[in-house]
Amino acid sequence: MTDDTQPDTLRTPIVAVLGHVDHGKTSLLDEIRGSAVSEAEAGAITQHIGATDIPLSTISSMAGELVNPDDFDLPGLLFIDTPGHHSFSTLRARGGALADIAVLVVDVNDGFQPQTEEAIDILRRTGTPFVVAANKIDTTPGWNPQEGEPIQRSLEAQSERAESMLNENLYEIIGQLSDAGFSADLYWRVQDFQKNIGVVPVSAITAEGIPDLLAVLMGLSQRFMKEEMAIDVHGPGEGTVLEVKDERGFGATVDTVVYDGVIRNGDTIVVGGQDEPIVTEVRALLQPRPLAEIRTEKQFEKVAEVGAAAGVKIAAPDLDDAMAGAPVRVVRDRPLQDVIEEVKAELAEIEVDTAEDGVVVKADTLGSLEAMANALREAEVPIMRAEVGDIAPRDIAIAETANQDEHKALLGFNVDVLANAEDELESADVKLFTNDVIYQLIEDYETYVEEKQRAQQ
Ligand code: GDP
Repeated sequence: MTDDTQPDTLRTPIVAVLGHVDHGKTSLLDEIRGSAVSEAEAGAITQHIGATDIPLSTISSMAGELVNPDDFDLPGLLFIDTPGHHSFSTLRARGGALADIAVLVVDVNDGFQPQTEEAIDILRRTGTPFVVAANKIDTTPGWNPQEGEPIQRSLEAQSERAESMLNENLYEIIGQLSDAGFSADLYWRVQDFQKNIGVVPVSAITAEGIPDLLAVLMGLSQRFMKEEMAIDVHGPGEGTVLEVKDERGFGATVDTVVYDGVIRNGDTIVVGGQDEPIVTEVRALLQPRPLAEIRTEKQFEKVAEVGAAAGVKIAAPDLDDAMAGAPVRVVRDRPLQDVIEEVKAELAEIEVDTAEDGVVVKADTLGSLEAMANALREAEVPIMRAEVGDIAPRDIAIAETANQDEHKALLGFNVDVLANAEDELESADVKLFTNDVIYQLIEDYETYVEEKQRAQQ
């Protein structure tokens, strides 16, 4: 370690996994977690709320010669458990992305697909460094798995036919990245991962390439965290709400990823709410109990404090109106009013430009609302109202006030229809679209509009 590094200011980088449906995001995360757990002699893993912490010792024992622990000041990697760009765009920090780095999973046979493009757009917009995991290499005809080998050696051990088929697919992806404006290459040819995107061939089934992927993630984080991140791991905690959940015995709680500072039991916190910032006091900080201990007892254990980076469930009074995607801030060493203003300012950044006449949009989190608003702007669909939350009678009433018929529509992303709104929907002159894939939701709406226009001609 050199003199200019301060190990205690480098927190665990937060890693998100994105990619098109079925390209293997979940399998890849499962494989990484599973093989980490089997490295029992190293630090194994720590399961957080919403995230998994894999310490450096485990990573280096998984990655073998590819990761020398002496080369790194980082404590490990914190993988967000929910893959997909929906959760990625939900998870924001100070207006940017909460995840420090991302893995973009692309099925090597399938190449870029609509959600790959969406994910790339989001990564570009948020300036998030990423690597591409070219997954499912084991499905290459004639593939001969080489377990425990760095992927470059595994490739050399393939028949010429298998190697050239795989290469063809890999270069297709490299070309698609280039069309999207990124210079990319197979990872072992990349000198500087901040300038070029490394493509790592992997298989979530045979685990080939996973050591390489971890090595690239460590290398990328180390550079990125040192150069770009000013983190005060001992300061007042800052986090982002993943989910608001009712928990027996605790009432409404917020699952939170803490990306800076420390949150302690008893701290006064400010949390972004539906109408106003919520000011409350932490009653309990909850972490999952280690698996072995989960029997009939409570699922959670209380901890006195958590420091970044971590996932934790915060129990506190008055959290019912907390919003997924909203900021959480500890009030310590500065006036409450300043913190409230900070939370308001962060929420205001996400406000959507609305038009006099347009559709009504509902989404489950601020980040996804913003993503919807961006996608609708690109599709030139005006928005009359955009809000976080399930579809309520009020939304239907507002949608009905639209002037143009095609705007009498409710677009719900990842939300439910409240029971008391269901009856009203039946009698209302409003068309409802719900989906948990943005481009499909918008496509459905556009198809509807086209059909309506055709019928009118
Ligand atoms: P997600 O929608 O991106 O999370 O994709 P999943 O992880 O659910 O994977 C979709 C399907 O692809 C599942 O049937 C997986 O078993 C399969 N799959 C994922 N990764 C691999 C891989 O590396 N090799 C093979 N052969 N199948 C895979």
